[in-house]
Amino acid sequence: MSTACPACGSGDARSFYQCADVPVHSCLLVDDERTALDFPRGDLDLMFCTACGFVYNRVFDPAHNAYSSDYEETQGFSARFQDFIADLAGQWVDRYDLVGKTVVEIGCGKGEFLTEMVRAGAAHGIGVDPGVHPERIADDVVGRTTWIPGFFPRDYPELTADAVICRHTLEHIAPVADWMRTVRAAIGDRTDTVVLFELPDVRRVLEEGAFWDVYYEHCSYFSTGSLARLFRRTGFEVLNQWTAYDDQYLIVEARPSTTPAPGTPEAVEGDLDAVGRAADRFAAAHAAMMDRWRERLRHVADGGGRSVIWGSGSKGVAFLAALGADSALVDAAVDINPFKHGRYMAGSGHRIVAPKELQELRPDLVIAMNSAYLDEIGRDLATMDVATTLEAV
Ligand SMILES: [Zn+2]
Repeated sequence: MSTACPACGSGDARSFYQCADVPVHSCLLVDDERTALDFPRGDLDLMFCTACGFVYNRVFDPAHNAYSSDYEETQGFSARFQDFIADLAGQWVDRYDLVGKTVVEIGCGKGEFLTEMVRAGAAHGIGVDPGVHPERIADDVVGRTTWIPGFFPRDYPELTADAVICRHTLEHIAPVADWMRTVRAAIGDRTDTVVLFELPDVRRVLEEGAFWDVYYEHCSYFSTGSLARLFRRTGFEVLNQWTAYDDQYLIVEARPSTTPAPGTPEAVEGDLDAVGRAADRFAAAHAAMMDRWRERLRHVADGGGRSVIWGSGSKGVAFLAALGADSALVDAAVDINPFKHGRYMAGSGHRIVAPKELQELRPDLVIAMNSAYLDEIGRDLATMDVATTLEAV
């Protein structure tokens, strides 16, 4: 296994966090408890590159990847999420003059975002993802979209479009620089194509000790600085960078460049030392955060109460897997996505239940796996007349 940084090629990376036997997938649907408990596992050895600030899992093995139509990652059943993506799609269509244009999305998931780009005015959307379900696409955009259940570049090699979008995908790819160069090559000489990426911000994860945001599927982690450096290094000019969704997500807007290392770094990219310090403190922050949640769950159980988590996606899988045997202190995982009900959480084996089951379970503590959904969950609980304590990780 190479020790060179996959983003910049430097050999100056240091290991700052290790964890063995974590489930290799977070969002694959699992039909029974036994399969969930026996789910394949892999190890984490997170590295911080002192040259470019990139954070990556040194022992990630892509052979574990099993992305398929059984991959159920969507947050699209949330009204808050729908509002967010509709707003972002509208901004991008306006800012980059994409009315009547063609847009490609690499890693389009269930297609919600591309759908919003078309609704905002794009003439044609092409979505590529092994997990896309064309039969679930909204009727109003069916005639203006093309769905390719596969991978870029293998199943869709050429990016002929006015915009190339890639949201929450780059963090699942290990050879990030090679992959970005493949994107750049696939755009070719169409240098007016705009390139729009969104992915989690590692700085927040490290600083908060957010152990539920570190998991096997995410082999690559970026901050504002390391993302901009990667883009420049692989042939893109960075136009704009910002954080969104309660500062959880990094957004970068770029264009292909013909100049090596184009553009001057913005002040916000000068985060190398801060991210390095946060990486060095992560193991301690992680342990403290684990202790805090273990104590919280034990306190509820000691009082004869029940706890559930709300959100059965990657954060939920990581949260329960990290708790180990103490995950038994959590009674169930709630999800609003009906495709997940009756399935099981990879690793911990928790059953995924519909919100209405809380009327029977009567939990004393509901832990939201993403603070962005606190208001929405609070309203759902009130509507169902479930009186409980609601907290977010
Ligand atoms: Zn590096």
